[in-house]
Amino acid sequence: MINWSLSTELLSLIIIIMTALFCYDKKQIKTRRDRLFDLILLMSALSILLNTVCVFTIEHYADVPHGLNMVLNSVYFLISSSTCTAFAAYLFDLLLEHVYDKHCRTKALVGLSILTVIFTLLVLLNCQNGLLFYFNEQGVYCRGPLNKAGYMLLIIELGMIGMCYHRNRASIGRSVRRVMYMLPPVALLLAFFQLSFSGLLLNGTIMAFAALIIFVNFQNLQVGQDSLTGIGNRKSFFEELSLRLKGGQKFQILLVSLCGFAAVNQQFGYRKGDEFLYHIAKWLEEVHPSGRAFRFSNVTFALICPYEDDDSARKLLHQLKERFDDIWQIGDIRYGLSACFGLMTCNQQTLEATQIMEMLTMMMEFAKQKEQKEIEYDKDIELMFRKKKWLEELLLDSVEKKRFEVWYQPIFNCKTQQFDAAEALIRLRDYEGHLISPADFIPLAEENGMIEEIGWFVWEEVCRFLGTHSELPLQAVSINMSMQQFMNQHLSEKISDCLERNHLSPSQIKMEITERVVSYDMKYMKQQMEHFAEEGLVFCVDDFGTGYSNLSNVMHLPFACVKLDRSLFEKFTQHSKDRMVVRSMIELFHSMNLQVVAEGIETRQQQELLHAMGVDYIQGFYYAKPMPEADMLEFMTKPL
Ligand code: C2E
Ligand code: MG
Ligand code: MG
Repeated sequence: MINWSLSTELLSLIIIIMTALFCYDKKQIKTRRDRLFDLILLMSALSILLNTVCVFTIEHYADVPHGLNMVLNSVYFLISSSTCTAFAAYLFDLLLEHVYDKHCRTKALVGLSILTVIFTLLVLLNCQNGLLFYFNEQGVYCRGPLNKAGYMLLIIELGMIGMCYHRNRASIGRSVRRVMYMLPPVALLLAFFQLSFSGLLLNGTIMAFAALIIFVNFQNLQVGQDSLTGIGNRKSFFEELSLRLKGGQKFQILLVSLCGFAAVNQQFGYRKGDEFLYHIAKWLEEVHPSGRAFRFSNVTFALICPYEDDDSARKLLHQLKERFDDIWQIGDIRYGLSACFGLMTCNQQTLEATQIMEMLTMMMEFAKQKEQKEIEYDKDIELMFRKKKWLEELLLDSVEKKRFEVWYQPIFNCKTQQFDAAEALIRLRDYEGHLISPADFIPLAEENGMIEEIGWFVWEEVCRFLGTHSELPLQAVSINMSMQQFMNQHLSEKISDCLERNHLSPSQIKMEITERVVSYDMKYMKQQMEHFAEEGLVFCVDDFGTGYSNLSNVMHLPFACVKLDRSLFEKFTQHSKDRMVVRSMIELFHSMNLQVVAEGIETRQQQELLHAMGVDYIQGFYYAKPMPEADMLEFMTKPL
């Protein structure tokens, strides 16, 4: 009789139980694959337990009824072979994760099913023919001629997995490749040991190793999983996207970006806010049978699913929109969440994964501005994206080669009746020499951090201009400042250095900042502005009267002047109410000891009205458009 050693099996059981404990997380959204892994762990544990029991009953055959011994061993053969098949199914699922082609999946399923049926028949018939095992007249366990059929099953399944890997290697990620290099050799090596040493029991060890390798690479998903919602994170979204593109798959991406979610956190607290996100993620994960949900960014979710046709893609988008027309219920809280939506179909896509990621972000920004809060990827969007990329490259090159120009727009002083101030405005030309509007490239430069260098270029140019032309009757030049410049720790030194090198006093520069810049971090800005104001620099609120205006900012920050936005004067000549607003604003700011500049004045009528209202400065096309340095010199030296 064979003398079996159970120590390896018991050790393997402990490893399996520990792995199961690591996987246990009640809150986590379980995907189909997670559930399969749970089943694998359960089957592995059962298989090891049964093996242990079988060893015991075989060794004590005299005390155990023959029938029971037969049943226990048959069940063990069935469970261990099914566990091997479940592992194979898991590996197929991994290999075909980024492949929508059903052909391969069906073949794998049919292959595994046939093997299971054959093996089950073998076990059932074994009671009569003893091909796998039998008990002799004394009741001693004996191996039958097909006792090693389980190993054959393992080898056939590994062969099928190898073929599937080879066929779909373009769409297979690095971690799956790693598992493919690790798992089959380990399984085969252990199987070889077991076959060579008949007393060794290594079936459980093979299972424990396989489970561990899978757990470390996939089930311990902290790396690819969003910790709050349990769905894939941005990193795994990127991987899914790259591999599907590499494999030439047709798929669609749906984006859902929550709008005004900060209000939910404020109203119900962060814990409830997190629960809302969790529920949305869970719903999204289940909304399409073949779809995978990801947390694309903070409050933006993405769903990747197979592309069938344009109609079904739109239907799904409609389904998502409809859900958001409805109420979300978390415990006893009922709340309507608003969101914007994006749809992109990837069918022979020429863009790369990184570009698609950027495009999706850009699409969602557009969707937020649209009335229907929905955007669909089309040629126009791609064109806009490519234009943005082109502009980004042009900006980068222009920063490097200092291709920018600083233009000046004269500002008329209503008291002295002279142009004694100006605003410095940046200009950029494309390679054909056409001017590009700062309204187009400044936001982009702010987005990718290039605004700081551009800002310093303007400072250098303005200081050089003022330094070399001290004969001009210019009291001050205004420079538009961005948030990034204020974030620079060496701002103060840089400004002092620039002024000193050009022999200028701080009062010759006015820093124009919009309230959008101020509101990034009020406390910090107040501190910075007070410091500069003490040194003699002057601050001016730019674009007052647009969406961001807040009187308390003007009151509590050391501003010396306010620039009223040109939108305030658009209908100002026709409507007496608009005039009243402007008049009251001028009076109010004067009472606060602030100077008032009217910006964007284009007509004589506007100019006369503002003069009569007592505005301090007027800037606008009526007097002069922004002009290059040489024209400005000529403008400033010619008599009025
Ligand atoms: P802003 O600071 O409010 O500058 C005034 C803008 O109004 C300028 O546009 C100017 O050309 C335009 N403008 C002046 N008078 C009139 C008028 O009578 N009618 C009309 N229709 N427009 C008038 P520009 O030069 O295109 O600049 C747009 C914006 O780009 C600026 O608005 C400013 O926010 C930003 N910008 C320009 N240069 C810089 C810079 O050096 N740094 C930063 N951070 N931003 C800048
Ligand atoms: Mg300005
Ligand atoms: Mg302005």
